[in-house]
Amino acid sequence: MALFNLAFARKHGGRMVLRIEDTDQLRSTPESEEAILQALSWMGMKWDEGPDCGGEFGPYRQSERTALYQAEAQRLLEQGNAYPCFCSSERLDQVRKEQMANKETPRYDGHCLSLTPEEIEERKNQNEPWVVRLKVPAEGECRFTDELRGEISIEWTQIDHQVIQKSDGFPTYHLANVVDDHLMEISHVIRGEEWISSTPKHVLLYEYLGWTPPSFAHLPLLRNPDKSKLSKRKNPTSINYYQDAGFLPEAMLNYLGMMGYTLPDQREIFSLDELCETFEIKRVSLGGPIFDVEKLKWLNGRYLREKLSPEEVLQKLIDWKGGPDFFRKIIPLALPRLETFSDFFPISQFLLNESPVYPLEELAGKQEPVEVARILKVAEWELEKASTWDRDSLSSIFQNLAEKEGKKLKELLAPFFVCMTGSKVSLPLFDGMALLGADLTRTRIRKALQLLSENGAGLSKKGLKALEKEYRQSYGNRID
Ligand code: ZN
Repeated sequence: MALFNLAFARKHGGRMVLRIEDTDQLRSTPESEEAILQALSWMGMKWDEGPDCGGEFGPYRQSERTALYQAEAQRLLEQGNAYPCFCSSERLDQVRKEQMANKETPRYDGHCLSLTPEEIEERKNQNEPWVVRLKVPAEGECRFTDELRGEISIEWTQIDHQVIQKSDGFPTYHLANVVDDHLMEISHVIRGEEWISSTPKHVLLYEYLGWTPPSFAHLPLLRNPDKSKLSKRKNPTSINYYQDAGFLPEAMLNYLGMMGYTLPDQREIFSLDELCETFEIKRVSLGGPIFDVEKLKWLNGRYLREKLSPEEVLQKLIDWKGGPDFFRKIIPLALPRLETFSDFFPISQFLLNESPVYPLEELAGKQEPVEVARILKVAEWELEKASTWDRDSLSSIFQNLAEKEGKKLKELLAPFFVCMTGSKVSLPLFDGMALLGADLTRTRIRKALQLLSENGAGLSKKGLKALEKEYRQSYGNRID
């Protein structure tokens, strides 16, 4: 999405605005923001305005713009285009269940629309939590134009009375984006097709607020080779993964540029500049493009052979993963296990390959395979939550895991040792995972889970559901 936005902006002499949508405080951390900027920069993408480089329409983090959204939510309330809702989550669950039983689309039933101003005042004075909901017309339809799909019309009865401001005073995506796109003078919104069904809410907000909506273009989402929606279960979805696994940024960018798009002259190898110069949004195909790591590898190989001299390949190889600094971190860990230099690569090769290969029996060891799957899954969820990634934080995550699961740390770690290093003897595990980085580590856990399930030893659907419930009780909510 970012690449096509950039290409469109460059082609039309526009400016690319990078805005951090961090109103979900559980998911958004300074580290996650840094990871986004780093991934885009690695691929050679540059933006004209953003949290790091500033611009005249800042601040560029939504968390620093709360007052702007609250002012517009207040205006909508005063105009009668939005209303306070005091419904408890229990009531909303009940309504949803009844609607589903009646085979209706689950949506808010308009319960709080009938509250009188006195009742609203009274309940606010009682400090009851409340949210702001968007008032949606009861009949008729919303029409808008999509740059790729032409005119789209959706009946208002299909549109939920969306919460636009949560009880903590933070906006939801819908309000924040409309307000920001207007104030930041965004002319074109190029985003994923999953937003088509929400666009009427945005069109309505523009109308209520008296603003002109931007042009919309909804691009198809990437898919796995089996045509399912791209997911990290089947493909690493983090750009950092490809950096850590030794891909060239130019090849990565080229491959992403081929996702649903072909250059007018059909050439397969092209640079960012060439993509930008010739970009036409109308050429984006609506069929879900397949993201296939094997094809990406093939393209990467072509870049290595056709675009670089052996000397340049050597230099890039030396610089990979931070260059000598990376090895500087490995040496102290390897030293106690070294007699000759020949010993070095066998024990540290797991830090340099994309993923180690090992037999299932080794992964399971003396434990029940399904128990191993359980622990791997819980660890995957716990590691998703890690906001820092170093030896000590990893150590405390696993200590906590051992304690909660009632296992000895050594026993708990055995399968992790195998899926990280591919062997039973290697460098210390937490240091190894810290050096591997979050993305390679998590992908290795997913691959181990995959190996177990391919051999009929993984978690069943039912088992996974039960585990999720259990996890929420002892570890808290998941982040996905
Ligand atoms: Zn309500």
